[in-house]
Amino acid sequence: MPYLILLFALLAESTITHASVSGERIIEADNEPGSWLTHGRNYAEDRMSPLTQINKDNIKDLGLAWYFDTGTTRGLEASPLVIDGVIYTTGSWSKVFANDARTGEELWSYDPEVPRAWGVNACCDVVNRGVAAWENSIFVGTIDGRLVSLNKETGAVEWDVLTIDKERPYTITGAPRVVNGKVLIGNGGAEYGVRGYLSGYDARTGDLSWRFFTVPGHPADEHESDVMRMAAETWTGNVYHQVGGGGTAWDSMAYDHEANILYFGVGNGSPWNRHIRSPGGGDNLFLSSIVAINPDNGEYIWHYQTTPADTWDYTATQHIILADLEIKGEMRKVLMQAPKNGFFYVIDRITGELLSAENYVPVTWASHIDMKTGRPVETENADHLAETKTTSPAQFGGHNWHPMAYNAGTGLVYIPAMLNQAPYNTDTNFEYLGGSNWHMGQMADTPEMDIITSIPPGLMTAIFKRIARGKLIAWDPVQQKEVWSVMHETMWNGGVLTTASGLVFQGTGDGRFIAYDAETGKHLWESPTVTGILAPPISYSLDGDQYIALMAGWGGAGPLAMKLPGSKSAGNGRLLVYKLGGEETLPPGRERPPMPVPPAQTGTEASIAEGSVLYHQHCVYCHGAALNSDAIIADLRYMSEGSHQAFQQIVRGGILSGIGMASFAERVTEEEADAIHDYVIYASHQKWDEDQATGWWKDLRDWSYEVIADVVSRFGLM
Ligand code: CA
Repeated sequence: MPYLILLFALLAESTITHASVSGERIIEADNEPGSWLTHGRNYAEDRMSPLTQINKDNIKDLGLAWYFDTGTTRGLEASPLVIDGVIYTTGSWSKVFANDARTGEELWSYDPEVPRAWGVNACCDVVNRGVAAWENSIFVGTIDGRLVSLNKETGAVEWDVLTIDKERPYTITGAPRVVNGKVLIGNGGAEYGVRGYLSGYDARTGDLSWRFFTVPGHPADEHESDVMRMAAETWTGNVYHQVGGGGTAWDSMAYDHEANILYFGVGNGSPWNRHIRSPGGGDNLFLSSIVAINPDNGEYIWHYQTTPADTWDYTATQHIILADLEIKGEMRKVLMQAPKNGFFYVIDRITGELLSAENYVPVTWASHIDMKTGRPVETENADHLAETKTTSPAQFGGHNWHPMAYNAGTGLVYIPAMLNQAPYNTDTNFEYLGGSNWHMGQMADTPEMDIITSIPPGLMTAIFKRIARGKLIAWDPVQQKEVWSVMHETMWNGGVLTTASGLVFQGTGDGRFIAYDAETGKHLWESPTVTGILAPPISYSLDGDQYIALMAGWGGAGPLAMKLPGSKSAGNGRLLVYKLGGEETLPPGRERPPMPVPPAQTGTEASIAEGSVLYHQHCVYCHGAALNSDAIIADLRYMSEGSHQAFQQIVRGGILSGIGMASFAERVTEEEADAIHDYVIYASHQKWDEDQATGWWKDLRDWSYEVIADVVSRFGLM
């Protein structure tokens, strides 16, 4: 009998410690530094690997060990997980892949078969930020709002539940987390008009355990809780419940297991503009807030609102990191976040008390955070009711979803930050149209839009060199100041990994994977990735080898909306895995075919102007400002003669909805589609003429940052 007990003990050991993922295993993540068990490596989401084999001395020998083609051409944003020798990751359209972490051999894959026309509801590309693991299951949220449990060994579907109301344009792009047997998932859609919430599902059955709404529902309905009654007192008017109010929890979560508190970030309002969303004023809870709840039942504990009455798309869905910091001689359990609004916050994570906040990028909408009230002090620039104001940061944020990392050794947080600005105004004729129309409450026909549509595309991209740049910032969260930084020509870049050996890794929009010295910012190593990077790297080890893994696929919000200077788009999305002595090489990126000669101009000055306004209302977020894109989705300036002839059938007939081009028949009339076509042909000629040009005009794309800055200031754009 004793050996039977021993056998049971061994079985229990093998199922709990080596095959099954439990809360204990995630809490003790530092005991298995070779694994990456949850999104941010541990529940604190610090994204610091304890592995030290790859270090400052030998990093020159780092090379590609293997790569895996995901078979997709859209943005890749996932943090892979590595559990017991298998690497689990996701691709575009919420596909899941399980590969041998040593060789890259595919073990299984899962395609949730999202109807491609649902992609029109995705503001920021059909991306996915990864899976969660619990016991013997892998969980993924899908673009069309499902939460799916897969068998960890085979990829077979265990359960598949719809988490959204399909009458509304909800999407899921974030990675689930699992705490105490509950799978936690939010959603996106606040650009179009939804009501946000975070849900907890039973990991074994898929049953909904609880739901925490982030904004109040219709005033005529009973509020779901006292917390919703409290939130409703901070809203006015009757537009928000029609549009949805927003407040989507689309990305960040962290968990303090000792206090049993779950933290999550809340997004912007629907519509963006506060004068329309809540015309009588009010803070509009819980928009742009960090909310602390009990993960077992979803009950409210505290909240901190980073941007009361947000009107700039300043989400607080950015990465949340938990750490213990010595502040004014006292050890504090803190939560850190660098949300879009440009301020870096250090908050007591038990009480919600604000400990400090300083701006990490230039900020024009607020002068500072008042430490007595914990509120931002708005400047004149914040008021864009009567006139257009250009504000920093832009809606892309001083920092977006791209994860930062905290290195307990250096005491620094590494922020993949952005410098940018955008014009904001108020559409006093705002009308809620329903469906997946963008509802920002801003006018589309502005002087800024005239500039974008009148300037040749190459010059526009060059101007972005001045008004939009990337910056990796090493930030001291105790002193609240920058210690070192590195500028990137492309604004949109990858998330960050740091290691106990004093390294910081980041991929860039211009197609490089770079390692820096975590203490000084010194550039130590780089390798071409062929395509621009959005995702954060992770690290793991197997059989004595340390690996660094990174998803490589260009796309996402910024690259879809505009052509960023220096950005690279290879066409193929891949998982890249590096180790010391790796000798694999990547195939070259795709060659763009030559641009076809555009058809003869069809529009009048008036129809082209009308078409430009309509294009920038309905088409810009997939096909790029002024059609100037990296062709992640079709570059309309390269349209074939056949596509030009079938323009009405494509735009209003929905003949390409199977590949994601949904019908816009309910949004634009036949005459309006003709005007858009006139503008598309006009913009095609702009590029054609620019490409044929010679001399200084042709060289303008390569102008230096300083020359562009000079030109921009002469044009009065700054
Ligand atoms: Ca948003």
